[in-house]
Amino acid sequence: MTITSKQPNIGTTIFTVMSQLAAETGALNLSQGFPNYNCSPKLIELVNHYMHKGMNQYAPMAGIMPLREILAQKTADLYGLYYQPAEEITIVSGCTEAIYATMAAILHKDDEVIVFEPAYDSYVPSIELNGGKAIYVTLTAENDFTIDWTIVKSKITERTKAIMLTTPHNPTGKCLTKEDLNHLAILVKETNIFIVSDEVYEHIIFDNRLHLSPASHPALKERTFLCGSFGKTFHTTGWKLGYCMAPKELTAEFRKTHQWITFASPTPMQHAFADFMKEPDNYLSVRGFYEEKRNKFINWLKDSRFTLKPAEGSFFQMVSYTQITNEPDYDLAVRWTKEIGVASIPISVFYNQRNDNKILRFCFAKDDEMLEKAAERLCRL
Ligand code: GLN
Repeated sequence: MTITSKQPNIGTTIFTVMSQLAAETGALNLSQGFPNYNCSPKLIELVNHYMHKGMNQYAPMAGIMPLREILAQKTADLYGLYYQPAEEITIVSGCTEAIYATMAAILHKDDEVIVFEPAYDSYVPSIELNGGKAIYVTLTAENDFTIDWTIVKSKITERTKAIMLTTPHNPTGKCLTKEDLNHLAILVKETNIFIVSDEVYEHIIFDNRLHLSPASHPALKERTFLCGSFGKTFHTTGWKLGYCMAPKELTAEFRKTHQWITFASPTPMQHAFADFMKEPDNYLSVRGFYEEKRNKFINWLKDSRFTLKPAEGSFFQMVSYTQITNEPDYDLAVRWTKEIGVASIPISVFYNQRNDNKILRFCFAKDDEMLEKAAERLCRL
């Protein structure tokens, strides 16, 4: 049999590659973004409880109502944004699904989607597998990865169907500002351009910053698919549970694609989160938890030859290594995993042309012992 690849230039994701290499070599794995500590025992108890209670069959296609209700309440309380649980919120199997289902719902052949790079690696395949074309806006280290909206404007054509945004951003840790949203609102005014917004790190945001969803701008809510996750907030990345919030007409189309991708998402976890989120501290406390980790990690690196700007959000810290070596970032990430036993992610993999800014990404969602040990090794370089 022969199979004609639909993704001839795509290999295995960098996260699997680096995590595997870390496992083979016994390196401290600061590459793939997942915590190496457990979620709350209370949450495990709740899942257990609902499993014993018999909540083991399909959940409703759009998710169980109590979870949609509590999400609506949280979003209203925190951001003053109201989504109707019945027709505007859908529970899905992780934010990766939310993004894929959105692209599948909105894209017609040859539609263009503006993507900022470095871009999380699932975005472009989600666009291309659904017949679309990614149009890149390249963010650079020299400009501190800030968005130049005049460049964005120059990329808009009559084929532009959507703009893909991430805040807080993976891998840069940057957060959108009020000014960004104002520029965006002016650009898309009186167009049919959708915003697809990846906000999985919404609660992991530092230095008293406010999380600003594009949907929080009054002129942008009507066109935004707000894609989120429970995995990062509750240390449960393996449960693969996320959601998409969007106005009624958009959600109706979103559900049509979601139902053919996964149909519904795990039932006992949905019930557990619906209960667990009744206590706001369970999601609000994650900010301080990670801010402390970021600060400790940076502090442990202070005698190293890396240069860095503290991450504004997410659980990733980028570091520049130009004072140590000029090697390509990919080769270096592999070499250091093997030789010093610390695995990281090279930023070039998030660029279409593999631009090399000589930057590595370290995940600090790791226990203090691992972070300190990794920093110690990095300080010797
Ligand atoms: N989001 C995680 C990261 O950026 C990885 C998810 C995955 O492995 N696909 O590291």
